[in-house]
Amino acid sequence: MTDFDDDRHLVVVGGGLAGLRAIEAARGTGWRGSLTLVGAEDNPPYDRPPLSKSFLAEGPLNQVTPFRSAVQLREELQADVVLGTRVEGVDTAGRSVQLSDGRRLSYDSLLVATGSNARKVAGQDSVTGVVGLRTDRDAAEVRRHLDEGARVVIVGAGFVGSEVASAALQRGLHVTIIDTESVPLTRSVGRRAGEMCVDLHRAAGVELRTEVGVAGFASRGGRLTGVCLTDGSEIAADLAVVGIGASPSTHWLESSDVALESDGGIVCGEDLATSVPGIWAAGDVAHVPYGVFGGDLLRVEHWTNAAEQGAVAGRNAIRRQGDPEKVSGIPYFWSDWYGHRLQFVGTALSAEEVVIGPGGPGSVILYRRDDCVVGALTIDRGGDIMKLRRRIVGRGSWDEAVEFAQARVEGGVGDKQTLPA
Ligand SMILES: Cc1cc2nc3c(=O)[nH]c(=O)nc-3n(C[C@H](O)[C@H](O)[C@H](O)COP(=O)(O)OP(=O)(O)OC[C@H]3O[C@@H](n4cnc5c(N)ncnc54)[C@H](O)[C@@H]3O)c2cc1C
Repeated sequence: MTDFDDDRHLVVVGGGLAGLRAIEAARGTGWRGSLTLVGAEDNPPYDRPPLSKSFLAEGPLNQVTPFRSAVQLREELQADVVLGTRVEGVDTAGRSVQLSDGRRLSYDSLLVATGSNARKVAGQDSVTGVVGLRTDRDAAEVRRHLDEGARVVIVGAGFVGSEVASAALQRGLHVTIIDTESVPLTRSVGRRAGEMCVDLHRAAGVELRTEVGVAGFASRGGRLTGVCLTDGSEIAADLAVVGIGASPSTHWLESSDVALESDGGIVCGEDLATSVPGIWAAGDVAHVPYGVFGGDLLRVEHWTNAAEQGAVAGRNAIRRQGDPEKVSGIPYFWSDWYGHRLQFVGTALSAEEVVIGPGGPGSVILYRRDDCVVGALTIDRGGDIMKLRRRIVGRGSWDEAVEFAQARVEGGVGDKQTLPA
């Protein structure tokens, strides 16, 4: 239950999707306490997925449009918005946070939605043309190089890197992807799906070099000229996009008593409460137990997860009475490559993976634990994924899920959703 007229102060740290959804949800209850959103970027919250997709396409430059302008955040949500400012530390006993502009803000409830930072390879910051893609500024730099016709190397065949490869290829540019694994993405989606992703790159004509890493960068006058590999070879390049994953942005919590996992993510309950009363977390930073997967603690870096968790944490942070709300969603993401849409729901941590269909576009992969279906990946089968999601949430039987997918795929049922190439 929410006490609409209480005068508590909720501070939300992180001006991304989770932070935005948190303040929208808190206000959505009718709560009229005071609210501050502190964000390190200069822009109000904006959407990240387009940064590696439509933003990189040829044509007039797509400006990044925030979900709501700073004025709208102030007027529509009565939020005090502090942008271009980092939170540098927290005093959990005194309930205040230290800002990078020297100010200290007191809070009654604190909601941490600081997301994650792109991981880096050694030496990348000292060479122009080597970019990690996380923010609108990064995307603008990638786009500028693509507009100049850069020879492109993608470091890491993950989802973001693969999308950039797709955008570069669509412009007719020369693209090479390198990855240290023999089958990239195996840890995220399992080996069979990883192999299908490899096939998508090769079918598109992109060179994918596996089991090789970056030894360094060759440059002239500080500008990238090539990527030096651990096998002793060098690939000529004007742009290297480093997509080797992301780490939770929680350095500022390391000396606090907020419990962190070994990767720096924040340990949360199903209600997104942290180990410290009055502090909540949501989005890419949060490790949350998922009852539907036997209590597995997962830190999920997906859009829908940030949106759902932000809203739940926002409502819980201002709740005065009654039981806090629990997270009910399960992980879901999509990724667009070479005109194909990949969608994944659930978990790939499973005992068995089964491919249904031709083993590429038009296929479904199901993931099994005991007698239940726990995950599903589809390629160009937009009509199936939510039906499979319902089965996973409901701990549906493995046999029934396999029969369902076979009927859809082999019977030619379901939208074959292919994106414009
Ligand atoms: C290029 C790209 C493409 C993506 N594509 C997809 C996709 O296709 N499908 C999908 O499901 N997901 C996708 N994602 C992932 C999805 O966008 C993220 O999971 C989501 O943005 C996470 O939201 P968040 O609010 O938790 O964190 P973020 O979006 O990272 O926002 C956190 C904010 O907090 C700020 N911050 C950090 N530290 C501090 C501090 N100390 N003080 C103040 N502010 C701080 C950061 O600057 C940032 O603005 C993509 C991500 C990227 C980068």
